Amino acid sequence: MSDPCIFCDIAQGIVPANIVYEDAATLAFIDLRQFHPGHTLVIPRRHFADVRELDEWTGAALMATVARITTAVGKAFPNEGISLWHSIGPAAFQEVPHLHVHIHPRRTDDNFLRVYPGELPGSQPSERDEYAAVLRHHL
Ligand SMILES: [Zn+2]
Repeated sequence: MSDPCIFCDIAQGIVPANIVYEDAATLAFIDLRQFHPGHTLVIPRRHFADVRELDEWTGAALMATVARITTAVGKAFPNEGISLWHSIGPAAFQEVPHLHVHIHPRRTDDNFLRVYPGELPGSQPSERDEYAAVLRHHL
């Protein structure tokens, strides 16, 4: 047996959650924390730590559920926008090591989850060329 996982337990019905949608590969449920009403999580039923482990079938199913739930959250709860996020590893503050995508309604100037802390330095074309070459090497 692998380590206990709260999201595997939710997917298997062992731990209760406010499940709003489920299909053969995925489910969606209301997050315990509601900074704005409607914060929802989408997960694959099978345990994957993050997107890097996904097979194509589950990945496609997961994105279909993310799109479906995002559309519903956008209609159901007040918002001027919606943030989607998926964190990988401690530096990105991944709290549960089972792949999950947050769907979070946003309000204008809510000062929540700012992606960039402020003005960022630009980059030189040569840097971008180099980074693209490095990344292509790993694809
Ligand atoms: Zn799990």
